Amino acid sequence: MKHNNQVFDNVLDLVGNTPLIRLNKITSKFKGNFFAKVEAFNPGNSSKDRIALHIIEEAERKGILSPGDTIIETTSGNTGFSIAMVSIIKGYECVLAVSSKSSADKIDMLKTMGAKVYVCPAHVSADDPRSYYQVAKRLHEEINGSVYINQYFNELNIDAHYNSTGPEIWNQTEGKITHLIACSGTGGTISGTAKYLKEQNSSIKVIGVDAFGSVIKKYHETREFDEKEIYPYRIEGLGKNLIPTATNFDVIDEFVKVTDEESAHTARLIAKTEGLFVGYTSGAAMQAVAQLGENNEFKEGDNIVIIFPDHGSRYMSKVYSDKWMKEQGFFDSINEEAAETIQY
Ligand code: PMP
Repeated sequence: MKHNNQVFDNVLDLVGNTPLIRLNKITSKFKGNFFAKVEAFNPGNSSKDRIALHIIEEAERKGILSPGDTIIETTSGNTGFSIAMVSIIKGYECVLAVSSKSSADKIDMLKTMGAKVYVCPAHVSADDPRSYYQVAKRLHEEINGSVYINQYFNELNIDAHYNSTGPEIWNQTEGKITHLIACSGTGGTISGTAKYLKEQNSSIKVIGVDAFGSVIKKYHETREFDEKEIYPYRIEGLGKNLIPTATNFDVIDEFVKVTDEESAHTARLIAKTEGLFVGYTSGAAMQAVAQLGENNEFKEGDNIVIIFPDHGSRYMSKVYSDKWMKEQGFFDSINEEAAETIQY
Protein backbone atom coordinates (compact mmCIF):
# COMPACT_ATOMS: atom_id res chain seq x y z
CA MET A 1 0.00 0.00 0.00
CA LYS A 2 1.19 3.46 -0.78
CA HIS A 3 -0.49 5.23 2.14
CA ASN A 4 2.03 4.54 4.90
CA ASN A 5 4.68 6.69 6.55
CA GLN A 6 6.81 6.91 3.43
CA VAL A 7 7.92 10.29 2.08
CA PHE A 8 7.65 10.68 -1.70
CA ASP A 9 9.97 12.55 -4.05
CA ASN A 10 7.11 14.12 -5.96
CA VAL A 11 3.44 13.61 -6.74
CA LEU A 12 4.17 11.21 -9.63
CA ASP A 13 5.42 8.56 -7.20
CA LEU A 14 1.80 8.20 -6.11
CA VAL A 15 0.45 7.24 -9.54
CA GLY A 16 -1.03 3.73 -9.55
CA ASN A 17 -1.27 1.19 -6.73
CA THR A 18 -4.82 2.31 -6.05
CA PRO A 19 -6.85 0.44 -3.44
CA LEU A 20 -9.37 -2.31 -4.08
CA ILE A 21 -12.31 -1.60 -1.77
CA ARG A 22 -15.01 -4.13 -0.93
CA LEU A 23 -18.55 -2.97 -1.66
CA ASN A 24 -20.62 -3.89 1.36
CA LYS A 25 -24.14 -2.58 0.78
CA ILE A 26 -24.90 -1.54 -2.77
CA THR A 27 -24.51 -5.10 -4.08
CA SER A 28 -25.98 -6.89 -1.06
CA LYS A 29 -28.86 -8.45 -2.95
CA PHE A 30 -26.55 -10.16 -5.45
CA LYS A 31 -24.46 -13.30 -5.00
CA GLY A 32 -20.68 -12.92 -5.06
CA ASN A 33 -18.04 -10.60 -3.63
CA PHE A 34 -17.81 -7.16 -5.18
CA PHE A 35 -14.74 -4.92 -5.12
CA ALA A 36 -14.18 -1.44 -6.54
CA LYS A 37 -10.79 -0.44 -7.96
CA VAL A 38 -10.94 3.19 -6.90
CA GLU A 39 -8.88 5.22 -9.36
CA ALA A 40 -9.70 8.50 -7.62
CA PHE A 41 -6.82 7.58 -5.28
CA ASN A 42 -4.38 8.53 -8.03
CA PRO A 43 -2.89 12.00 -7.33
CA GLY A 44 -4.72 13.48 -10.33
CA ASN A 45 -7.90 11.76 -9.10
CA SER A 46 -8.34 9.47 -12.11
CA SER A 47 -7.05 6.44 -14.02
CA LYS A 48 -5.69 8.82 -16.66
CA ASP A 49 -2.63 9.52 -14.49
CA ARG A 50 -1.43 6.07 -15.49
CA ILE A 51 -1.56 6.73 -19.23
CA ALA A 52 -0.18 10.28 -19.04
CA LEU A 53 2.84 9.07 -17.07
CA HIS A 54 3.39 5.95 -19.18
CA ILE A 55 3.09 7.65 -22.58
CA ILE A 56 5.35 10.54 -21.55
CA GLU A 57 7.97 8.23 -20.03
CA GLU A 58 7.94 6.02 -23.14
CA ALA A 59 8.61 9.12 -25.27
CA GLU A 60 11.49 10.00 -22.92
CA ARG A 61 12.91 6.47 -23.21
CA LYS A 62 12.76 6.71 -27.01
CA GLY A 63 14.55 10.07 -26.83
CA ILE A 64 11.61 11.92 -28.41
CA LEU A 65 11.10 14.29 -25.47
CA SER A 66 13.55 16.49 -23.67
CA PRO A 67 12.87 19.13 -20.99
CA GLY A 68 11.10 22.19 -22.37
CA ASP A 69 9.38 20.22 -25.15
CA THR A 70 5.63 20.36 -25.65
CA ILE A 71 2.96 17.75 -25.02
CA ILE A 72 -0.34 18.12 -26.88
CA GLU A 73 -3.76 16.55 -26.38
CA THR A 74 -7.39 17.22 -27.20
CA THR A 75 -9.27 16.96 -23.93
CA SER A 76 -10.52 19.11 -21.11
CA GLY A 77 -11.22 16.00 -19.08
CA ASN A 78 -9.19 13.74 -16.85
CA THR A 79 -6.44 13.08 -19.40
CA GLY A 80 -5.80 16.81 -19.78
CA PHE A 81 -5.42 17.21 -16.03
CA SER A 82 -3.06 14.22 -15.77
CA ILE A 83 -0.87 15.43 -18.65
CA ALA A 84 -0.70 18.90 -17.08
CA MET A 85 0.35 17.37 -13.76
CA VAL A 86 3.06 15.18 -15.30
CA SER A 87 4.28 18.13 -17.40
CA ILE A 88 4.74 20.36 -14.34
CA ILE A 89 6.91 17.80 -12.56
CA LYS A 90 8.94 16.84 -15.63
CA GLY A 91 9.32 20.34 -17.07
CA TYR A 92 7.27 20.17 -20.28
CA GLU A 93 4.86 22.61 -21.85
CA CYS A 94 1.31 21.25 -21.88
CA VAL A 95 -0.98 22.37 -24.69
CA LEU A 96 -4.63 21.31 -24.67
CA ALA A 97 -7.06 21.95 -27.52
CA VAL A 98 -10.52 21.71 -25.99
CA SER A 99 -14.10 22.13 -27.12
CA SER A 100 -16.00 25.33 -26.33
CA LYS A 101 -18.51 23.00 -24.61
CA SER A 102 -15.97 22.49 -21.79
CA SER A 103 -17.03 24.14 -18.55
CA ALA A 104 -15.26 27.31 -17.37
CA ASP A 105 -14.33 25.41 -14.19
CA LYS A 106 -12.47 22.77 -16.16
CA ILE A 107 -10.60 25.33 -18.25
CA ASP A 108 -9.64 27.28 -15.10
CA MET A 109 -8.42 24.08 -13.46
CA LEU A 110 -6.22 23.20 -16.43
CA LYS A 111 -4.80 26.72 -16.60
CA THR A 112 -4.03 26.55 -12.87
CA MET A 113 -2.11 23.36 -13.64
CA GLY A 114 0.04 25.34 -16.08
CA ALA A 115 -1.60 24.18 -19.33
CA LYS A 116 -1.99 26.43 -22.36
CA VAL A 117 -5.61 25.95 -23.38
CA TYR A 118 -6.95 26.53 -26.91
CA VAL A 119 -10.73 26.73 -26.84
CA CYS A 120 -12.11 25.55 -30.21
CA PRO A 121 -15.70 25.82 -31.50
CA ALA A 122 -17.80 22.79 -30.56
CA HIS A 123 -20.27 23.05 -33.44
CA VAL A 124 -17.80 22.38 -36.31
CA SER A 125 -17.05 18.95 -37.81
CA ALA A 126 -13.89 17.02 -36.94
CA ASP A 127 -12.25 17.88 -40.29
CA ASP A 128 -12.92 21.63 -39.98
CA PRO A 129 -9.58 23.46 -39.45
CA ARG A 130 -11.09 25.11 -36.33
CA SER A 131 -12.00 21.79 -34.65
CA TYR A 132 -9.94 20.75 -31.65
CA TYR A 133 -8.68 17.68 -33.55
CA GLN A 134 -7.33 19.82 -36.39
CA VAL A 135 -5.94 22.50 -34.05
CA ALA A 136 -4.06 19.81 -32.09
CA LYS A 137 -2.74 18.24 -35.31
CA ARG A 138 -1.58 21.60 -36.63
CA LEU A 139 0.13 22.55 -33.37
CA HIS A 140 1.86 19.16 -33.36
CA GLU A 141 3.18 19.80 -36.89
CA GLU A 142 4.22 23.36 -36.08
CA ILE A 143 5.88 22.85 -32.70
CA ASN A 144 9.27 21.20 -32.96
CA GLY A 145 9.84 18.30 -30.58
CA SER A 146 6.19 18.08 -29.62
CA VAL A 147 4.45 14.85 -28.66
CA TYR A 148 0.76 14.27 -29.45
CA ILE A 149 -0.75 11.90 -26.89
CA ASN A 150 -3.77 11.04 -29.11
CA GLN A 151 -5.24 8.70 -26.48
CA TYR A 152 -7.95 7.15 -28.70
CA PHE A 153 -5.38 5.95 -31.23
CA ASN A 154 -2.33 5.31 -29.09
CA GLU A 155 -1.48 1.68 -28.29
CA LEU A 156 0.54 2.86 -25.30
CA ASN A 157 -2.78 3.70 -23.66
CA ILE A 158 -3.44 -0.08 -23.54
CA ASP A 159 0.12 -0.81 -22.37
CA ALA A 160 -0.22 1.54 -19.41
CA HIS A 161 -3.03 -0.58 -17.99
CA TYR A 162 -1.45 -3.89 -19.07
CA ASN A 163 1.61 -2.91 -17.03
CA SER A 164 -0.10 -1.52 -13.95
CA THR A 165 -3.89 -1.87 -13.49
CA GLY A 166 -3.92 -5.54 -14.60
CA PRO A 167 -1.11 -6.79 -12.32
CA GLU A 168 -2.44 -4.74 -9.40
CA ILE A 169 -5.90 -6.33 -9.63
CA TRP A 170 -4.42 -9.82 -10.07
CA ASN A 171 -2.29 -9.39 -6.95
CA GLN A 172 -4.98 -7.67 -4.90
CA THR A 173 -7.43 -10.53 -5.55
CA GLU A 174 -4.65 -13.13 -5.16
CA GLY A 175 -5.59 -14.39 -8.59
CA LYS A 176 -9.18 -15.09 -7.55
CA ILE A 177 -10.91 -12.50 -9.74
CA THR A 178 -13.73 -14.02 -11.84
CA HIS A 179 -15.23 -10.90 -13.49
CA LEU A 180 -13.88 -7.52 -14.59
CA ILE A 181 -16.38 -4.75 -15.29
CA ALA A 182 -15.10 -1.49 -16.75
CA CYS A 183 -16.33 1.46 -18.77
CA SER A 184 -15.00 1.85 -22.27
CA GLY A 185 -14.14 5.27 -23.66
CA THR A 186 -10.81 5.06 -25.42
CA GLY A 187 -10.97 1.42 -24.31
CA GLY A 188 -7.44 1.58 -22.92
CA THR A 189 -8.40 0.69 -19.36
CA ILE A 190 -10.52 -2.35 -20.15
CA SER A 191 -8.27 -3.61 -22.96
CA GLY A 192 -4.95 -3.42 -21.12
CA THR A 193 -6.34 -4.72 -17.83
CA ALA A 194 -8.27 -7.55 -19.51
CA LYS A 195 -5.31 -8.60 -21.66
CA TYR A 196 -3.11 -9.01 -18.58
CA LEU A 197 -5.79 -10.77 -16.54
CA LYS A 198 -6.74 -13.19 -19.35
CA GLU A 199 -3.09 -14.11 -19.82
CA GLN A 200 -3.12 -15.23 -16.15
CA ASN A 201 -6.53 -16.96 -16.36
CA SER A 202 -8.42 -17.07 -19.64
CA SER A 203 -11.74 -17.86 -17.94
CA ILE A 204 -12.01 -14.42 -16.31
CA LYS A 205 -15.09 -12.77 -17.80
CA VAL A 206 -14.59 -9.22 -19.06
CA ILE A 207 -17.63 -7.01 -19.45
CA GLY A 208 -17.43 -3.54 -20.98
CA VAL A 209 -19.84 -0.72 -20.22
CA ASP A 210 -21.10 1.43 -23.08
CA ALA A 211 -23.57 4.32 -23.38
CA PHE A 212 -26.80 4.38 -25.33
CA GLY A 213 -25.87 6.71 -28.20
CA SER A 214 -22.42 5.12 -28.70
CA VAL A 215 -21.30 2.69 -31.44
CA ILE A 216 -18.99 0.52 -29.34
CA LYS A 217 -21.31 -2.33 -28.25
CA LYS A 218 -22.75 -2.81 -31.74
CA TYR A 219 -19.26 -2.77 -33.26
CA HIS A 220 -18.15 -5.45 -30.79
CA GLU A 221 -21.05 -7.66 -31.86
CA THR A 222 -20.98 -7.10 -35.62
CA ARG A 223 -17.56 -5.55 -36.36
CA GLU A 224 -19.54 -2.98 -38.33
CA PHE A 225 -19.69 0.76 -37.75
CA ASP A 226 -23.39 1.58 -37.49
CA GLU A 227 -24.07 5.31 -37.66
CA LYS A 228 -27.67 4.74 -36.60
CA GLU A 229 -26.42 3.95 -33.09
CA ILE A 230 -25.16 7.51 -32.64
CA TYR A 231 -27.15 10.17 -30.79
CA PRO A 232 -26.30 12.69 -28.06
CA TYR A 233 -25.96 11.54 -24.46
CA ARG A 234 -24.66 13.14 -21.29
CA ILE A 235 -22.17 10.77 -19.65
CA GLU A 236 -18.64 12.00 -20.36
CA GLY A 237 -15.80 9.54 -20.89
CA LEU A 238 -18.03 6.58 -21.80
CA GLY A 239 -18.65 5.27 -25.31
CA LYS A 240 -17.80 6.98 -28.57
CA ASN A 241 -19.02 7.96 -32.05
CA LEU A 242 -15.94 6.36 -33.65
CA ILE A 243 -13.97 3.14 -33.19
CA PRO A 244 -10.79 3.80 -31.17
CA THR A 245 -7.74 1.67 -32.01
CA ALA A 246 -6.97 1.83 -28.27
CA THR A 247 -9.79 -0.70 -27.80
CA ASN A 248 -8.85 -4.38 -28.17
CA PHE A 249 -12.28 -5.90 -28.84
CA ASP A 250 -10.90 -9.45 -28.72
CA VAL A 251 -10.26 -9.42 -24.95
CA ILE A 252 -13.77 -8.17 -24.09
CA ASP A 253 -16.50 -10.81 -23.78
CA GLU A 254 -19.56 -8.57 -23.93
CA PHE A 255 -20.82 -5.03 -23.51
CA VAL A 256 -23.71 -3.73 -21.42
CA LYS A 257 -25.38 -0.42 -22.27
CA VAL A 258 -26.47 2.03 -19.60
CA THR A 259 -28.62 5.18 -19.59
CA ASP A 260 -27.68 8.68 -18.47
CA GLU A 261 -30.46 8.77 -15.92
CA GLU A 262 -29.88 5.43 -14.20
CA SER A 263 -26.12 5.98 -14.15
CA ALA A 264 -26.59 9.38 -12.50
CA HIS A 265 -28.83 7.97 -9.78
CA THR A 266 -26.45 5.06 -9.25
CA ALA A 267 -23.44 7.39 -8.88
CA ARG A 268 -25.34 9.21 -6.13
CA LEU A 269 -26.27 5.88 -4.57
CA ILE A 270 -22.61 4.78 -4.39
CA ALA A 271 -21.87 7.87 -2.29
CA LYS A 272 -24.88 7.26 -0.03
CA THR A 273 -24.31 3.55 0.53
CA GLU A 274 -20.53 3.09 0.42
CA GLY A 275 -19.27 6.57 1.32
CA LEU A 276 -17.33 6.66 -1.93
CA PHE A 277 -17.61 9.97 -3.78
CA VAL A 278 -16.85 8.94 -7.35
CA GLY A 279 -17.62 10.14 -10.87
CA TYR A 280 -20.47 9.66 -13.32
CA THR A 281 -18.90 6.66 -15.08
CA SER A 282 -18.47 4.86 -11.75
CA GLY A 283 -22.25 5.14 -11.54
CA ALA A 284 -22.45 3.76 -15.09
CA ALA A 285 -20.26 0.79 -14.17
CA MET A 286 -22.36 0.01 -11.08
CA GLN A 287 -25.52 0.36 -13.14
CA ALA A 288 -24.14 -2.32 -15.46
CA VAL A 289 -23.42 -4.51 -12.42
CA ALA A 290 -27.05 -4.09 -11.32
CA GLN A 291 -28.31 -5.18 -14.75
CA LEU A 292 -25.97 -8.17 -14.78
CA GLY A 293 -26.97 -9.08 -11.22
CA GLU A 294 -30.67 -8.96 -12.11
CA ASN A 295 -29.88 -11.39 -14.95
CA ASN A 296 -28.17 -13.79 -12.50
CA GLU A 297 -24.72 -13.29 -13.98
CA PHE A 298 -23.01 -13.75 -10.60
CA LYS A 299 -22.89 -16.78 -8.32
CA GLU A 300 -21.72 -17.47 -4.79
CA GLY A 301 -17.93 -17.23 -4.49
CA ASP A 302 -17.45 -15.06 -7.59
CA ASN A 303 -15.06 -12.15 -7.17
CA ILE A 304 -16.20 -9.23 -9.25
CA VAL A 305 -13.93 -6.22 -9.76
CA ILE A 306 -15.47 -2.97 -10.96
CA ILE A 307 -13.29 -0.07 -12.04
CA PHE A 308 -14.32 3.35 -10.67
CA PRO A 309 -12.40 5.70 -13.02
CA ASP A 310 -12.47 9.06 -11.24
CA HIS A 311 -13.55 11.28 -8.36
CA GLY A 312 -16.93 12.91 -7.77
CA SER A 313 -15.49 16.41 -7.35
CA ARG A 314 -15.30 16.79 -11.14
CA TYR A 315 -19.11 16.54 -11.40
CA MET A 316 -20.31 19.10 -8.85
CA SER A 317 -22.19 21.12 -11.46
CA LYS A 318 -23.66 17.98 -13.03
CA VAL A 319 -24.58 14.69 -11.37
CA TYR A 320 -24.10 16.08 -7.87
CA SER A 321 -26.16 19.19 -8.52
CA ASP A 322 -29.88 18.74 -7.79
CA LYS A 323 -30.50 21.69 -10.11
CA TRP A 324 -28.77 19.91 -13.02
CA MET A 325 -30.56 16.65 -12.23
CA LYS A 326 -33.91 18.48 -12.32
CA GLU A 327 -33.03 20.24 -15.59
CA GLN A 328 -32.34 16.85 -17.19
CA GLY A 329 -35.70 15.56 -15.94
CA PHE A 330 -33.87 12.92 -13.89
CA PHE A 331 -36.11 13.53 -10.87
CA ASP A 332 -39.33 13.34 -12.91
CA SER A 333 -40.01 9.64 -12.61
CA ILE A 334 -38.04 8.78 -9.48
CA ASN A 335 -37.06 10.85 -6.49
CA GLU A 336 -33.83 9.99 -4.67
CA GLU A 337 -35.51 7.85 -2.00
CA ALA A 338 -37.40 5.93 -4.65
CA ALA A 339 -34.18 5.49 -6.65
CA GLU A 340 -32.54 3.77 -3.69
CA THR A 341 -35.25 1.19 -3.32
CA ILE A 342 -36.03 0.69 -7.00
CA GLN A 343 -32.51 0.10 -8.23
CA TYR A 344 -31.17 -2.36 -5.65
N1 PMP B 1 -14.54 7.28 -17.10
C1 PMP B 1 -14.09 8.53 -17.26
C2 PMP B 1 -14.57 9.60 -16.36
C3 PMP B 1 -13.18 8.83 -18.29
O1 PMP B 1 -12.73 10.07 -18.45
C4 PMP B 1 -12.78 7.77 -19.15
C5 PMP B 1 -11.83 8.07 -20.27
N2 PMP B 1 -12.36 8.62 -21.44
C6 PMP B 1 -13.29 6.49 -18.95
C7 PMP B 1 -14.16 6.29 -17.90
C8 PMP B 1 -12.97 5.33 -19.84
O2 PMP B 1 -11.64 4.94 -19.77
P1 PMP B 1 -10.89 4.48 -21.09
O3 PMP B 1 -10.70 5.73 -21.91
O4 PMP B 1 -9.61 3.92 -20.61
O5 PMP B 1 -11.74 3.52 -21.80
